[in-house]
Amino acid sequence: MNYDRKLTGVVIDPGHGGSDSGAVGNDMLEKDYTLLISKYMYDRFKELGIPVTLTRDSDVSLDPTNRVNKILNAYGNNSDVIVISNHLNAGGGTGAEVIYALRNTDTLAKKVLESIGAEGQTTRKYYQRRLPSDTSKDYYFIHRNTGKTEPIIVEYGFIDDSNANVEFLKENYQRLAEAVIRAVADYKGFNYIPPEGFVSNSYTVQKGDTLYGIANKLGTTVDELKKLNNLTSNNLSIGQILKIPEKYVQDGEKNIYVVKKGDSLYSIARENNTTVSELKTINKLTSDVLTIGQTLLLPSATVIADTYTVQKGDTLYGIANKLGTTVSELKNTNNLTSDTLSIGQVLKIPNSNNEQNSNTITYTVKSGDSLYSIAKNYDVTVDAIKKENNLTSNLLSIGQILKIPTTSITETTYVVKSGDNLYGIARKFNTTVDELKRLNNLTGNLLSIGQILIIE
Ligand SMILES: [Zn+2]
Repeated sequence: MNYDRKLTGVVIDPGHGGSDSGAVGNDMLEKDYTLLISKYMYDRFKELGIPVTLTRDSDVSLDPTNRVNKILNAYGNNSDVIVISNHLNAGGGTGAEVIYALRNTDTLAKKVLESIGAEGQTTRKYYQRRLPSDTSKDYYFIHRNTGKTEPIIVEYGFIDDSNANVEFLKENYQRLAEAVIRAVADYKGFNYIPPEGFVSNSYTVQKGDTLYGIANKLGTTVDELKKLNNLTSNNLSIGQILKIPEKYVQDGEKNIYVVKKGDSLYSIARENNTTVSELKTINKLTSDVLTIGQTLLLPSATVIADTYTVQKGDTLYGIANKLGTTVSELKNTNNLTSDTLSIGQVLKIPNSNNEQNSNTITYTVKSGDSLYSIAKNYDVTVDAIKKENNLTSNLLSIGQILKIPTTSITETTYVVKSGDNLYGIARKFNTTVDELKRLNNLTGNLLSIGQILIIE
């Protein structure tokens, strides 16, 4: 790595805008996505102390001449200026591409694509494209007409790809932006600091690292790391970005979870539809401290039970606590006249649909979240969330529980949580998958976390 490389500034170019929507697919316009990811990127470069500008910061039309002028006027016609032109592809395909100018080397494009791949998006290729009528020139104006600057076009994925990949793009735009920022930082030698609470899906090789050491650190094996990253030798280079293996391994009927960096009992419980206390019970844990690489047993059933089987040592009070209900509620639901329980007795779990206050819902912060993205998801303002939670700053931590003020949410809506599916939700509310799909105009069965469903 070359740490004396200068960076005068970064120009972020949200592709298209205004009357030019760009590509369209999956109920999304390219121009909206490029603006979303660009504005996030802009804020983050600012946060890192890198001079940065946007060619547009709202939904306005920008013809090629104006766009190029904005780029050249930002920090001058200078090879130390990086231009990141954000786009989505269309026309059939899966994955990301990076296109770089004929005047530049492939170093930056390669890094950006690798970094995007490490965050979980499929990668296709990084390449240059020539104008057919004059092959000494770039095909795209953003390369051809931008002087000495170093421009890259980043195509994060295909807007007309499967619903699942487009959902991935939407849910992970911050993660993808971080991937690009991290690659630029590595290329230009400035210090990349992830935002508070951001857990990367990748590992950047540091001085002194070995495959063996990294495998140990991540709770995996050298072989697995090599396979995942298509490594043919054990050689690593500083700054190289490695994918981290999937965390789940299947062991017969039991699910085993291998603790990785950034995990907490709380986040693992949430992700696996269980509770911290259940995890602690199953694994006989006496504290909340986890170590990377530690294996945890997960409750085998992914279906959320609506009964509880009394175990040795249980009391009504203890069970009520465990299930987030009260003794009287438990007794009511099960027509119990005394507090005496017998081992193996099956109790119905009181319906918890009314657990949520009608004016707020709770939301657990997950990796990649920001106050801005959460507010946007629930159609409320950042300030409203801050006020409701007495927050004095915008920093969030993973697993943090936020109350989201809402007026639009009533008992007849449901906010999709990790692990939910239409079938489970239909069952919970005594309705059918078809009815849910009809009410919510759903064409497929895919849900996204935080999505609000109308129940009746
Ligand atoms: Zn485009």
